Amino acid sequence: MKLILFALLLFSSFRCAKTSVYVCDSPHAVRYHYKPNCQGLGNCQHRVVEISLDSAEKSNKTLCKWERR
Ligand SMILES: [Zn+2]
Repeated sequence: MKLILFALLLFSSFRCAKTSVYVCDSPHAVRYHYKPNCQGLGNCQHRVVEISLDSAEKSNKTLCKWERR
């Protein structure tokens, strides 16, 4: 029970703190990233831009596989 509460707390603070994400400014980019220095962005040939999580999800981007939990 304690563990569940802790997980919920962690999850909600995680959601609140992470409102902006980073994407590769490429028409073919399909991932968004929480960290601008994520290794998933390492092979981006374009600019890395900061956008809101909402707009990332609206453009059908999914969380990068390196940062998936
Ligand atoms: Zn990433």
